[in-house]
Amino acid sequence: MRTALHARYVVGFDGADHVLHHDASVVYEDDRIIHVGPGWDGPTDHEMDLGNALLAPGFIDLDALADIDHALLDSWASHETALGLQWSERYFAEGRKDVFTLAERRLIREFALAQLALHGVTTCMPIASEVHSSWAETFDDAVVIADAAQRIGIRAYIGPSFRAGVNVARVDGRRDVLWDEGEGDAGLADAARFLDYAESLDHPLIRGALLPCRIETLTPELMRGIAKAAKEHDVPVRLHAMQGRLELELLGRQHGSSPLQLIEESGLLGCQLLVPHAIFGSGDGEHASPGDAELAVLAEAGVAVVHCPLTSLHYGMVLRSFDRYRDAGVRIAMGTDSFPPDMIRGMDVGSSLAKVVTGRLDAGSIADYFRAATLGGAAALGRADIGRLAPGAQADIIAIDLSDARMGVVDDPIRTVVMNGSARDVRMTVVAGQTVQLDGTITGIDLEGLRSKAQELFEKMRAAYAERDLMSRSPEQLFPPTFPLAHSD
Ligand SMILES: [Zn+2]
Repeated sequence: MRTALHARYVVGFDGADHVLHHDASVVYEDDRIIHVGPGWDGPTDHEMDLGNALLAPGFIDLDALADIDHALLDSWASHETALGLQWSERYFAEGRKDVFTLAERRLIREFALAQLALHGVTTCMPIASEVHSSWAETFDDAVVIADAAQRIGIRAYIGPSFRAGVNVARVDGRRDVLWDEGEGDAGLADAARFLDYAESLDHPLIRGALLPCRIETLTPELMRGIAKAAKEHDVPVRLHAMQGRLELELLGRQHGSSPLQLIEESGLLGCQLLVPHAIFGSGDGEHASPGDAELAVLAEAGVAVVHCPLTSLHYGMVLRSFDRYRDAGVRIAMGTDSFPPDMIRGMDVGSSLAKVVTGRLDAGSIADYFRAATLGGAAALGRADIGRLAPGAQADIIAIDLSDARMGVVDDPIRTVVMNGSARDVRMTVVAGQTVQLDGTITGIDLEGLRSKAQELFEKMRAAYAERDLMSRSPEQLFPPTFPLAHSD
């Protein structure tokens, strides 16, 4: 089956970098691209003219939202309320349970992965909050994600999350980690079992990965085990680290080490390592940014920093700075991490924050951000066949509409989309030559039905925060409305 897509603008690839074509085509046969650029007059089975649109490689989202929105609830809390959004010691000791059944988790995964496809993500490495689970994810959770990815048709790097400890709020309001090392070992065994399962699927879109929870919830022994398993199975590892001041404090208290020291000692630098966020380190200064020596270690080891600017901003954090990491030779990929999984808003916010942080208008260029969301993600996964539109590459393509009146005038199409548009302008998502999303619909998926069920499950999730709160406050106290309800209601 040979398909030709035509549009006013196409982001091609010249072997080294993206290039822009005007009035051009992308032609693919089954799952592979055979032509990019103007001047196609060969035969095709199917043609589509997208008109005033930009054809681009699909986004590679390496910290990809895989559950229901929680930022709506936990990204604006006061210090006192925020404590209540963690597990309490009591909940850890005697109350912990799964908020959702496996069937409900199946629905949540489908909802989340459908959102990714709608927003133009063609390759994802899922991330979900563990707060709602009785410990972390299970083998079955990963199977359910793999099922959803196959049903929707999105490329995915999957593994169950696991941990040996849980972040809790102590009765006196102190933050700490409480441990169950047996859970950590069982989690790694489950993760290794899933790697075998993923391989046995022999499905072109599904790959295994080791996706442990945040670094402060792992023991040094467990980290060494992860490095060993990653080398044995030859899979990427994603480890949330250098993510916040609390993490630095907890690791200092527990091990007397920085996150990067622990990573070095574990052997993980010898793996294909992805580190989401990497905003904090041992550098001087009020911001506790990573120092030059730390960036040099990340660069030397080929670690990919998974930069999630929109989520970081929602939680009051910023990378200092995109250009500094790039100049140090650090590989930068992108993630969305929480709702909305909107890489275009992420690029806009990231680029704008880079200007704020450096005081330069030419910082955080849109070209660099676009590279990070495509080629950077591909490099992080060690792949030369995705993140670009070129003959021989996978047909992972998105069409971004430029014809909406609200887009305004169009100058450079990429700059225009990033500044004036959002991922809601992605009108078509193609993965491995299959059209996954067209004009907001996904074949075989009842989006409205899924959304109303997700709303019900969101209410259940919201209510469950009260059970974990060390002060047993009600959801109404934890999550008051922006304005009080009017008396007449
Ligand atoms: Zn994250």
